[in-house]
Amino acid sequence: MKNLQKQMLSEFQDESLFKKAESFGLEFLSQALDRNVYPTEEALENLSVFDEELPENSGNAHDVIDLLHKHGSPAAVTQVGGRYFGFVNGSVVPAGLAAKNLSIFWDQNTAMQVLSPIASKLETVVQNWLIQLFGLPERTVAGFVSGTSMANFCGLAAARYRVLQNSGWDFNENGLFGAPKIRVVTGRDAHSTVLKAIALNGLGKGNIEWVDVDNEGRIIPEQIPELDNHTILILQAGNVNSGSFDDFNSICKKAREQGAWIHIDGAFGLWAGATTQLKHLTKGFEHANSWAVDGHKTLNTPYDSGIIMCDDQEALMSSLHMSGGYIIQGKDRDGMYFTPEMSRRARIIELWATLKYLGRKGIDEMVTNMHKRSIQFANEIAKEDGFSVLNEVVFNQVIVQCETDDVTDKVIEEVQNLRECWVGGSVWKGRRIIRVSICSWVTSEEDISRSVKSLIKAKKIVDDQMSMLRS
Ligand SMILES: *Cc1c(COP(=O)(O)O)cnc(C)c1O
Repeated sequence: MKNLQKQMLSEFQDESLFKKAESFGLEFLSQALDRNVYPTEEALENLSVFDEELPENSGNAHDVIDLLHKHGSPAAVTQVGGRYFGFVNGSVVPAGLAAKNLSIFWDQNTAMQVLSPIASKLETVVQNWLIQLFGLPERTVAGFVSGTSMANFCGLAAARYRVLQNSGWDFNENGLFGAPKIRVVTGRDAHSTVLKAIALNGLGKGNIEWVDVDNEGRIIPEQIPELDNHTILILQAGNVNSGSFDDFNSICKKAREQGAWIHIDGAFGLWAGATTQLKHLTKGFEHANSWAVDGHKTLNTPYDSGIIMCDDQEALMSSLHMSGGYIIQGKDRDGMYFTPEMSRRARIIELWATLKYLGRKGIDEMVTNMHKRSIQFANEIAKEDGFSVLNEVVFNQVIVQCETDDVTDKVIEEVQNLRECWVGGSVWKGRRIIRVSICSWVTSEEDISRSVKSLIKAKKIVDDQMSMLRS
């Protein structure tokens, strides 16, 4: 042990070790605009070098970093560039990435103020900025979690606490055994993480009162059943396929008057509420009780970054409460009261840096630009034979379809093989689709045209293969 400690002490002071890691990272970043979006087959095959037994003896830190770079960097997906359109994955705003780089050396634990005064301060500052940016009630509080999956979980935990409290039932003490019934109402196109959060909270997917949706995946307001104060209504800002928004303006005020708890899953779409041109999409969302949103999607913070915002501090804090003899209550904010975790990394630092850098106008410009590029993509691909655009491009998602499900799937596979851009597939109204999510500040007009060309090329390859098969 003596020798290991001595070795690590020297590595602690070994600038060349950390500079090497940084320079490898910078090498990756410098190629991000040009390199193939997805790793080559060779790079993926080489990942087998990591299949080894846990080493018996301690090694050399430089060797660890060299190995990671040699076989890890080529196998990393270039989603920080401008032509990754899979899932809903953001790039990184440079100021946020650099701030993360600085803060990794601090290695802060954000559980309590006493553990990290800087994280506690920035969480308070960002909470206030978000309230102003989205125009939410002053009393709103925010918890900084890993993503919207966890934010949805927290929002529904707070909802569960409150609606049971409305019936005089203390959930923390009594749990769900023998509890008054909780109703859960949501649209047929709710995101799968909402269903997961319903299940995790013990509410039961089988108990959901489903509301029909229109062609774009929006809840039909007239179809919402009569609500009451033991009901949780879950709405959506940004359908994961079409990007559509539920009509908060006609739903929220009324639902609130009926006493329901309203939770909005706004993983990527909530940021429309921070723009001037797209703000109409979120009109009325401020009447909800809880909102889940990601930093790592539309806002382009580094992974991972999600936020639960809640206008009912007591409900959120009660549902996530913990105590213990060794806990030191801070004078100001102790982050752990707003999240399920106790120990947590200081993701607030990148989130703060990104917001501080962009400012209101920068956020507006960045998000609006994603919308503009999405319109461009839709316009360019819709002109081509054999492709059609199925959705109204209200935000950053474009749904593209070929003649048949089979052709659509084959085109996706070919596009992925070509590695000029990356798109994934999904199902929309029972048919296979190409799902395009434009979520990177890097994406330029040229990136869009280049990517559309790659889809056309892929289609030609598929068409040729199919006519060969026929002849
Ligand atoms: C991505 C997404 C989620 C899940 O968010 P994570 O950050 O991946 O946990 C939930 N809802 C919607 C609409 C999403 O797009």
